[in-house]
Amino acid sequence: MKLLVATGNAGKVKEIKEILSSIIPDTEIVSLKDIYDPVPEIPETADTFEENCLQKAEWLRSRQECWVLADDSGLEVDFLNGAPGVYSARYAGEPSDSIKNMDKLLKELTGVPAEKRSARFRCVMALMSPSGESWVMNGSCEGTIQAEKSGTEGFGYDPLFVPVGYDKTFAELGKEIKNGISHRGMALRLLSEKITEIFK
Ligand code: IMP
Repeated sequence: MKLLVATGNAGKVKEIKEILSSIIPDTEIVSLKDIYDPVPEIPETADTFEENCLQKAEWLRSRQECWVLADDSGLEVDFLNGAPGVYSARYAGEPSDSIKNMDKLLKELTGVPAEKRSARFRCVMALMSPSGESWVMNGSCEGTIQAEKSGTEGFGYDPLFVPVGYDKTFAELGKEIKNGISHRGMALRLLSEKITEIFK
């Protein structure tokens, strides 16, 4: 039995595969890139992570009739009242561009002192059965937004995000540390009991 991941974001797929490799090492994890060419943009029209996540899961489940995993995630910056939030991927406009998104964020935070740069990554992860039953979990990771980019690993806003308890960005800390403390790792571990029950 295989598990389909409802995203075309290569960074997300890589992390989901890394985290699941210790939970269900023998399960085939298939992403949108493996089954569609060109990779479709799954509509995300809601204004909450949970609704968008379920929308993505349902989009793929209704077409493939398989077990599906979907995530909706983003960065909430307190000084910006929670922006970019659900709009994180396209904060600087379409098409989604991480460098432009980070540059826009740095511009919005120009002159804001370190103690006012608190933020968190959020992730809602849904597992959906071929018949449409769903299990949903939330993960979050608190941190701050650095004044310049550093590091080359990860994706999205990782070069700017310093998690609480560390003095380096996610892009500098690397995958083992990131997956162990990230919003995505947390949501997936909370789903792991159900995932193990189904796939082991
Ligand atoms: P979506 O879930 O496809 O709407 O996109 C979420 C967006 O939030 C990504 O494109 C990134 O910009 C950002 N994001 C989510 N999770 C992470 C992460 O782990 N690191 C860096 N950026 C992230």
